[in-house]
Amino acid sequence: MSKLIYMDNAATTRTAPEVVEAMLPYFTESYGNPSSLYGFASQNKDAITQARETIAKTIGAKGKEIYFTAGGSESDNWALKATAELLKDKGRHIITSAIEHHAILHTCDYLEKQGFEITYIGVDENGKVKLDELKAAIREDTILISVMFANNEIGTIQPIKEIGEIAHEHGIYFHTDAVQAYAHIPINVDEYNIDMMSASGHKFYGPKGIGFLYIRTGVKIGSFVHGGAQERKRRAGTENVPGIVGMAKAAEMAHEKLQETIDYEIKLRDHLIDRVMDEIPYTRLNGDRNDRLPNNTNFSFRFVEGESMLIMLDMKGICGSSGSACASGSLDPSHVLLAIGLPHEIAHGSLRLTLSDQTTMEEIDATADALGEIIPQLRAMSPLYEDFVRKQTK
Ligand SMILES: *Cc1c(COP(=O)(O)O)cnc(C)c1O
Repeated sequence: MSKLIYMDNAATTRTAPEVVEAMLPYFTESYGNPSSLYGFASQNKDAITQARETIAKTIGAKGKEIYFTAGGSESDNWALKATAELLKDKGRHIITSAIEHHAILHTCDYLEKQGFEITYIGVDENGKVKLDELKAAIREDTILISVMFANNEIGTIQPIKEIGEIAHEHGIYFHTDAVQAYAHIPINVDEYNIDMMSASGHKFYGPKGIGFLYIRTGVKIGSFVHGGAQERKRRAGTENVPGIVGMAKAAEMAHEKLQETIDYEIKLRDHLIDRVMDEIPYTRLNGDRNDRLPNNTNFSFRFVEGESMLIMLDMKGICGSSGSACASGSLDPSHVLLAIGLPHEIAHGSLRLTLSDQTTMEEIDATADALGEIIPQLRAMSPLYEDFVRKQTK
């Protein structure tokens, strides 16, 4: 097998070597419990405080508004469940979108069983949330609006500023799952009217199992994990010091060269999109052409079955995804592709290729070349395609 071409950075990223290096001393040398009072341990408390400040600065927040969690899923669960529980006497209605990550959607299922009512806002054919539908869904008893910053499958970036404005005009809290967006595009919590925001270290070259929830000062939300007094008594448990230090290092590195990375990734992304769309007929680009994550591409190839495509790419050493990591493994097409209006058979032929800041133009071309071989091979085996061609040539 040739050299690995990793094009699945929306699933997870490689931990940057500098991040690993920053973490190592906190396993073997500085291993004290940050809550202990002796100097040996209190240097770890300082490292956590420093990490909090570093991350806060990247989104225009204050250090005390950053709460460390075990990742994106926990941050999403916390934002939704704790807000619901605390405000249940004020109202039991929550608005979200139809294309959220399962960490949001399955939490909403759980809340529905607890007696909350959820409205799922639809999206247009490019995956943008319909703002008029959002406005119409707001009720007296709406306590929370949660809409993701950018979609993990099709890369569409939502009109977050407008959504936040609408929420605040009605005195409703606004949470955004920014797991795909944070450290990939600029975010400022004041400018975008964000009250709560989820992020996850392993989506931006940090370690797995560490994330954060931004909670704006004054926002009422209950504790999530009960126990010790860590994270201002809101999320108990001895801090994951190496993880926290590593995530802060990754956040710092990403923001030092954010615009440079964006420009670089867009150049590669657009080259891949142009080649695939020009060279492979009966192909659709999913997601918004312009308001799109710099590292995301998502195509639907008609008359092709997603799993076979992934296997053939894998044989050429290329890692891609046919939906989100959670969706693959089941036979249902992705809820995101269905929500943008794709019929089942077209959604099934979808491929997500997501770049990193280390992806090269050679890898992009090798991927486009591989698709140029694989797609015609798969179509040649498809009775549907045969039928289609016969009708075309009649
Ligand atoms: C990956 C992802 C999550 C879950 O994050 P984990 O850190 O893996 O728990 C949540 N939301 C979105 C949009 C994601 O892409």
